Amino acid sequence: MKKRYDVIIIGAGIIGSMVARFLSKYKLDILLIDKEVDVGMGTSSANSAAIHAGYDAIPGSNKALTNVMGVEMWPQVSRELGINYDRCGDYVVAVNDQELLVLEELLARGVENGVPGLQIIDGDEMRRREPKIRPDVVGALWAPTGGIGDPFAATIAAAENAVMNGVDLKLNTAFEEFLIEDNKITGVRTSQGDFESRWVVNAAGLYADEVMHKAGVRPEFNIQPRRGEYLILDKADFQLTSTTILFPSPSTKGKGILVASTLHGNVIVGPNANFVESKQNKDVTKEGIEEIWSGGHKLVPGINHRHIIAEFAGLRATGNAPSPNPAVDYNQDFIIEIPDDVQGLVNLGGIESPGFTAAPAIAVKVIELLEEAGEALEERPDWNPIRVPRPVFRHLDREEQAALIAKDPAYGRIVCRCETVTEGEIRAEIHAPIPADTYDALKRRTWLGTGRCQGGFDMPRVVAILSEELGLPSEAITKKGQGSELLFRRTKDVEQDHLTVEDLL
Ligand SMILES: Cc1cc2nc3c(=O)[nH]c(=O)nc-3n(C[C@H](O)[C@H](O)[C@H](O)COP(=O)(O)OP(=O)(O)OC[C@H]3O[C@@H](n4cnc5c(N)ncnc54)[C@H](O)[C@@H]3O)c2cc1C
Repeated sequence: MKKRYDVIIIGAGIIGSMVARFLSKYKLDILLIDKEVDVGMGTSSANSAAIHAGYDAIPGSNKALTNVMGVEMWPQVSRELGINYDRCGDYVVAVNDQELLVLEELLARGVENGVPGLQIIDGDEMRRREPKIRPDVVGALWAPTGGIGDPFAATIAAAENAVMNGVDLKLNTAFEEFLIEDNKITGVRTSQGDFESRWVVNAAGLYADEVMHKAGVRPEFNIQPRRGEYLILDKADFQLTSTTILFPSPSTKGKGILVASTLHGNVIVGPNANFVESKQNKDVTKEGIEEIWSGGHKLVPGINHRHIIAEFAGLRATGNAPSPNPAVDYNQDFIIEIPDDVQGLVNLGGIESPGFTAAPAIAVKVIELLEEAGEALEERPDWNPIRVPRPVFRHLDREEQAALIAKDPAYGRIVCRCETVTEGEIRAEIHAPIPADTYDALKRRTWLGTGRCQGGFDMPRVVAILSEELGLPSEAITKKGQGSELLFRRTKDVEQDHLTVEDLL
């Protein structure tokens, strides 16, 4: 048996990382585990990045409550964690009278949920605000508190702030079983051994159903992954007139295919919403691309196939927890509870959209649940909510850039030309409190390899830097952990073995 903790959190996505960060405020020994090689490799790295205003969710649901509370919290959370967030507002666009009625419904629902500032504007006003919108728009719901976040940075920053405040983070550590005595959870069995704990928080995202079943909780609850595919447009080719999010009128399938800005300057188109069998099926399909392209093009006719530089898919953890309104079946609710069946479990399940928006509020709800369960939480006087971000070269002015290069010449060497990422930034992330030791970990932190060339130019140099800093041979450097090595073998070895070109094909 290894170290004894007060709380173990399973899953270091945005939910587990925010829970760890907010709980680190108290005098508790906390362990955050994830089965992957880095934090934020699950659904938190593949979504629309919208901070939803809160007019979608059914009034009274956990989704509605944590969504609206999350929106209120994001300005402070992003300031404290040193991450970008733009409260640019969003629009739901109507193109006929029936859709105008849907806007009225959303407005009423938003008012009931406590969303401030909602307003229906007419087609002329919508065209004035975003001239690239389809010309036959007849009206739009304007939500000034909607916004855009950076789920990659948010997850990493929350986990990093938790670690700065004493949380132990163990990656490559998969939860396997609960240790249970007299119907009380006493710890967890993982791929790295057993850990004792008084509380366990289930924040396992797509796998939250399997985790809760192992504690005998909600055997009827199942998560069926609902895939959303996306396209990313080249920022040099296409921009919206201003930073914003454009949603179509929603359908029974969900919020619909949006066209939106990202905080990195690209336009994103997607997602669709299709159930898939496997929790690993993040394929982007021909049919999917056609579906999202048609949706996006209907909303903003100026987008062009030639603007596409990348595609990806994410999986919503859609569960069958009862909804406050069973008629709206896409709106099943978040599970946020301490179940009666077993002692010592905080159970979070079915955290699909708007889970990113709601994450800080869900963390606060976890604290409230622990207090209600009799946990005497005492604040740590030395808790530091501030995470100072590391320099991002492209965000600095000329003078600041020159000063940084004078201090460390590695900031004067550009490794990723499309996104202007320097060697200094890469080396700093490799030695950060949560070290970035794979290509994708560096990509999520610095944004290298995300531009027009999609890693074509930077990758060999990044592998060399990783190899040097980690003291590993280049062949050991991976894209995203074991099994994703980027280099097969040295060319010299190939010559020695007298392989022919045909052998390599
Ligand atoms: C297509 C799409 C669009 C979305 N758009 C938005 C949006 O615009 N705005 C918004 O607010 N929300 C959006 N969401 C929802 C949001 O992305 C999720 O609610 C959020 O990322 C869920 O975070 P999580 O931490 O619960 O899950 P995850 O990020 O998946 O984290 C769970 C973690 O648990 C780990 N784990 C699982 N099993 C184990 C185990 N056995 N042992 C150890 N670790 C384990 C995983 O490796 C993973 O890191 C969208 C989701 C999708 C798919």
